[in-house]
Amino acid sequence: MWLQVAVCLSCLLLGAQGQATFLRANDRSGRCQYSFTVASPAEDSCPTAGGGPEMEALRSRLTVLESLVSRLVSGDAGAAGAARAAPDAGLPEAYTRVMGEKSQLQQDKERLGRQVQVLQRRAEEQRLEVERLLAKPCQPPSAAQKDQRPASDPAWQLGNPRYQEVKAEVTEVPAPKQIQEGSQDSTGCGELVWVGEPVSHRKAESITGKYGVWMQDPEAVGPYGPQMLWRINTVGAEVRELYGYEDMDQLSRGFPTKVLLLPEPVESTGAAMYRGSLYYQRRRSRTLLRYDLATESIAARRDLPHAGFHGQFPYSWGGYTDIDLAVDEQGLWAIYSTNKAKGAIVVSQLDPGGLEVRRSWETNIRKNTVANAFMICGRLYTVASYASPNTTVNYAFDTATGESRSIAVPMRNSYRYNSMVDYNPVQRKLFSWDNFHMVSYAVRLGKPEAN
Ligand code: CA
Repeated sequence: MWLQVAVCLSCLLLGAQGQATFLRANDRSGRCQYSFTVASPAEDSCPTAGGGPEMEALRSRLTVLESLVSRLVSGDAGAAGAARAAPDAGLPEAYTRVMGEKSQLQQDKERLGRQVQVLQRRAEEQRLEVERLLAKPCQPPSAAQKDQRPASDPAWQLGNPRYQEVKAEVTEVPAPKQIQEGSQDSTGCGELVWVGEPVSHRKAESITGKYGVWMQDPEAVGPYGPQMLWRINTVGAEVRELYGYEDMDQLSRGFPTKVLLLPEPVESTGAAMYRGSLYYQRRRSRTLLRYDLATESIAARRDLPHAGFHGQFPYSWGGYTDIDLAVDEQGLWAIYSTNKAKGAIVVSQLDPGGLEVRRSWETNIRKNTVANAFMICGRLYTVASYASPNTTVNYAFDTATGESRSIAVPMRNSYRYNSMVDYNPVQRKLFSWDNFHMVSYAVRLGKPEAN
């Protein structure tokens, strides 16, 4: 549109200055061509290069024309700008809408926050419920069982216990190497080559004795003699009763001659008796305690460095059996695991006086794949299954060489829930607690048959 106006104005301007003709014709290529012809009032022919007054006047008029065209163009652009500015009128509305959406999102966030709190509260309630169920008392003994209670045994006076049982699956590890009975060395030590049939000495009287530990001090000192046997029923939230029997006959009859109340509670079945002291793991801790039988007090306490506890690295049956203490011909040992060992059995020799670790070995035997472990002559042995009636002693780790190997010494779990196995170097027997039963096994030591 502005081009047509410019052409008209050009005609007017030019017409005011002199006669002008406007021609339109096709050129040789057929395109439409427009041309002006203006007669000069002073010249009969075209001006020479460089122009003259007429050319200057023409330039001046063209400048005016360009100015007009430019204003027209800018006017159009201004109109277009106004058109673009029109949507700005909707900004308040958009702002209001966005603020509304923001408010809605805020409300959603608060609602989700409340839901998270509700779910967290439920999770906490469920955790407490699990703890309550774990601590729930089992059924009391039947009337028939009550009639069989020996009135003199304080084990019956415990009231309603609470339980810390943790189940785990049975693991059987095949052993490629068959060990045959051989001869002992000159010290009487040797490798375990045979485990006898289990002999049951006593069945625990109450549910508190489903799991437990029983012991005889291989280096007993006063006031108790070398025949004294000790036992702890380990089912309960606060296990603190230590029963003493003057010999095997009294244990079998269920008549304790001494009952001691330990000052701090016991965790699980890993306790050991040695040189007049009971060594045990304090409940829910990696703290080892030495309870002196003569003074009836804690004589030493020390954390077992980095040891897992309370279900972190138990044996396969669970039961918070993270730290297992053992005694053999070479002294006092702790069998456990650490985060660094990633669940593999670590065995440490302990100083019996102050409980310091003298030396440690890390094995390649995963603790949660075996049912229990014990030490004989500085060698660690593991039991494959706590529940299988026909299981094996399946690994041996020698602290003298730092090497472990698979073995397969048959062993029976008569009562199919073995919660404790330890060696007594004086009796040359394994002491075991198999589903309420205090059991022993004769063993033979020797050298394995060479392959
Ligand atoms: Ca053990």
